[in-house]
Amino acid sequence: MSTQSQRPGGPDLASALARVREVTEANLARTDRDAAFPVEALDELRRTGLLGLLVPVEYGGLGGTVRDLAAAAQSLGRGDMSVGMIFAMHCQQAAAVVRYADDRLRKELLPRIAAGEVYLASVTTEAGKGGHLLTARARLEATPDRLRIDRIAPIVTGGAYADGFLITMREPGDAADTDVSLVYADRGQLEVTGSGDWDPMGMRASHSVPLRLAGSVPGHQVVGGHGQFREIAGKVFGPLAHVGWSAVWLGTAAGALARVLELLRGPAGRERFDLGSDLLLTRLSRVRQRLDTVHALLAHTVEVVESDEDLSRPSRQLLLNSLKITASEECLAAVDGLVELVGLRHGYLKDSPTRLELAVRDLRSAALNYSNDRLHLADGRLALLDRGVTFV
Ligand SMILES: Cc1cc2nc3c(=O)[nH]c(=O)nc-3n(C[C@H](O)[C@H](O)[C@H](O)COP(=O)(O)OP(=O)(O)OC[C@H]3O[C@@H](n4cnc5c(N)ncnc54)[C@H](O)[C@@H]3O)c2cc1C
Repeated sequence: MSTQSQRPGGPDLASALARVREVTEANLARTDRDAAFPVEALDELRRTGLLGLLVPVEYGGLGGTVRDLAAAAQSLGRGDMSVGMIFAMHCQQAAAVVRYADDRLRKELLPRIAAGEVYLASVTTEAGKGGHLLTARARLEATPDRLRIDRIAPIVTGGAYADGFLITMREPGDAADTDVSLVYADRGQLEVTGSGDWDPMGMRASHSVPLRLAGSVPGHQVVGGHGQFREIAGKVFGPLAHVGWSAVWLGTAAGALARVLELLRGPAGRERFDLGSDLLLTRLSRVRQRLDTVHALLAHTVEVVESDEDLSRPSRQLLLNSLKITASEECLAAVDGLVELVGLRHGYLKDSPTRLELAVRDLRSAALNYSNDRLHLADGRLALLDRGVTFV
């Protein structure tokens, strides 16, 4: 399926995305100013069936591919990076359920996601261990028929509005902190308590609040079985996160460039800017070059992920990490280049139609959203393993 096409009986994805972007646009100034979650855009994602993009058709979903995810995330990122990330992270969670949940949980949950009833939030970051993905401090407690959860979650995008959570927890018993299980919990199975505010530099509409989650779930809600999070992270979570996020960031930078070009080519812009200036043209070229680089790396990575090869191979992990690091750096650098190009009025003031000020603030989070430093450290180790520098 492609975002340009229409599946028989299904929605036209391009027009569904256009509707979400329209609603996003109408609320953007307020959601950014007030650091408010874009409930209207989420309603539209529910209504259009887009929350079920990666849910197989047999469960009522759109049966989309990783390529569809990248295209949709890029499209939403053009309108607003927060909405793009909310969507991409939800899809990443849904894909983990599709691939690793047991039959019972799949049957219980996937039709609800497809129907737009369940928006999923992600809980991996934990107090005390920072962003380190593959460890968990809080331990599941096994009772005769349930698993008890008590988890501090310092940053949960959309957590106040999510209908369900995928949470990393340490296995029950005396397991080590590297024995991590991924557990699904419905909002109704948890007591969700807010434990702080959300007032960040950018990504304000992502409403990524700190929460405490406490409650219990039946055993079949452990996704992929106990201790399997490392495998899920290597094969689904990591790949889809890096593809989805990079697509959103590329969309945000491409949207910024498109709005700057609109300004430059319009009557007011032609009066204000010298389109024949060597400096302007060179700056424009550098911006476009950065975006073409990210676009090419994203397209290649999507092909590799879709080829369903063993993504745990060092060269594959290196590629996925390179995509995330490169996209986070180059998209921000591209928008920063646009600020230099247009100057203060349209590059630095909030009320410019270019929205560069918002794009810079939002994109500054990209390197932090799973720390690039952590990825470089992993990549150094992986590079040592690929002695032949094979790229395959
Ligand atoms: C907008 C946004 C939304 C988010 N949404 C969610 C969400 O929904 N759910 C969720 O669970 N998380 C979420 N996160 C958290 C995110 O994925 C990261 O895990 C988190 O931002 C890391 O926080 P940190 O930088 O404090 O921690 P760390 O990753 O621990 O890093 C702290 C500092 O130490 C450095 N550092 C730490 N360890 C190493 C190391 N081993 N080697 C080298 N340097 C190191 C880092 O570079 C950094 O400077 C979100 C983050 C952002 C920005």
